[in-house]
Amino acid sequence: MDLRYESFELKLKETFSISRSSIDTKKVVYVKIDEGIGEVSPSTFYGESEGTVKAALELFRNELGNDPFAIEGVLEKINSRIAGNFSAKAGIDLALHDLIGKRLNQPVHKLLGISKKEIETSYTIGLDTIRKMQEKVKEASGFLVYKVKVGVENDLKIVEAVREITDAKIRLDANCGWDLKEALKKLKILEKFDIELIEQPVQPENLEDLRIIRENTDIPVFVDEWVMTSRDIPQYMGKVDGINIKLMKCGGIREALRMIYTARACNLKVMIGCMVESSVGISAAAQISPLVDYADLDGNLLISNDPYSGPELRNGKWILNDLPGLGIKKGSIV
Ligand code: MG
Repeated sequence: MDLRYESFELKLKETFSISRSSIDTKKVVYVKIDEGIGEVSPSTFYGESEGTVKAALELFRNELGNDPFAIEGVLEKINSRIAGNFSAKAGIDLALHDLIGKRLNQPVHKLLGISKKEIETSYTIGLDTIRKMQEKVKEASGFLVYKVKVGVENDLKIVEAVREITDAKIRLDANCGWDLKEALKKLKILEKFDIELIEQPVQPENLEDLRIIRENTDIPVFVDEWVMTSRDIPQYMGKVDGINIKLMKCGGIREALRMIYTARACNLKVMIGCMVESSVGISAAAQISPLVDYADLDGNLLISNDPYSGPELRNGKWILNDLPGLGIKKGSIV
């Protein structure tokens, strides 16, 4: 099979800030295998960049073979070529799924036996001044659930201000921004704001801290940052309530499915999230999103120059289309 790739710079509509970083643009790489298209949105947090992605893709070039339906074998080969580099691997996985769907003229969700076609997504409110965060919620008024970034000094005030102006569900993500003491104190206070869940309140290494937090708050505790593949899941059993899966963290649809099954076996809830990425990555995640409990698929909504379009957003829900493969079309609908 023929492998091509090209970089593209996504532009954020507004500066996007979380507790440890801020960005205005995001470099992604589109991967094309024959007529299949995938997307790579590398994250420096995981040691990946445009350069590492392109180097990894060159390593993978000779492992693709001629049969897109042999996807398990191809992924096994690229995994054995190099450790980590999960977003680059996701690019191959996504392009192969798109290619298989196009060859069979069927959408990926249908090939995976998924019949439900709509999923509610949260819309992320990045860190900003309190007034600006309130404005962002008002501007994005059609959503049923907001994911508010916290993990900073004035975050109790942020949540109070957001709750003041919306009755929608609120999820929080501290991106490791608290220590144990701060997490325990803040979550006790935050309980009165009817919070659906808290993601990554503290650094992920200390499982005991997570267990203590979970025992001391009514707000469900989810982990994200270092839950990368299915192997990382069992250690969290009984310590947290759920995990956040991202295609760019785990290496694509195949591993994301394994993660969903592993989490279920460990009695953990599942969220599917994303990076800042365009409609190719979001549509790919949306294909399997009916299998999970919570979706946070809004990366393409945060950018102003999406070169593709995917599922339709209607009343805060993604509606999957019947286009073959990942369900994407060239050209923005915005
Ligand atoms: Mg997160």
